[in-house]
Amino acid sequence: MIQKVDHIGIAVRSLAETIPYYENALGMKLLKTEEVESQKVRTAFFEAGETHVELLEPTADDSPIAKFLEKNGEGIHHVAFGVDDITGQLKQAADAGVKLIHEVPMIGAGGKQVAFLHPKFTHGVLTEFCSGGEH
Ligand code: ZN
Repeated sequence: MIQKVDHIGIAVRSLAETIPYYENALGMKLLKTEEVESQKVRTAFFEAGETHVELLEPTADDSPIAKFLEKNGEGIHHVAFGVDDITGQLKQAADAGVKLIHEVPMIGAGGKQVAFLHPKFTHGVLTEFCSGGEH
């Protein structure tokens, strides 16, 4: 079951240049920064009540975030739903005809299990499921 919007992922060119906006202009609290090798990104997590903002900076030219920035510029990259059973949630989507990017969850930021649905099937919103982990 989907439990909440866990976080909103936002692609940025530079964490160093973007973090002050969230801290100073919005007054949000930076929880942590973390490099996620499996996705070739460096992330910064901010608290927004029960949910989070995840800034994503590419660490390599072939990072999915680098490709996104090239195509779209900075902006909202994905919406992540926190789920209690990620395998069951993926199966439900697949059974409904949605193509999965990750048939098996991978380990993302915070040690969470994460998996993405194929954006061609999600009506314009790149959709992530995540479960477990520390944030
Ligand atoms: Zn995410």
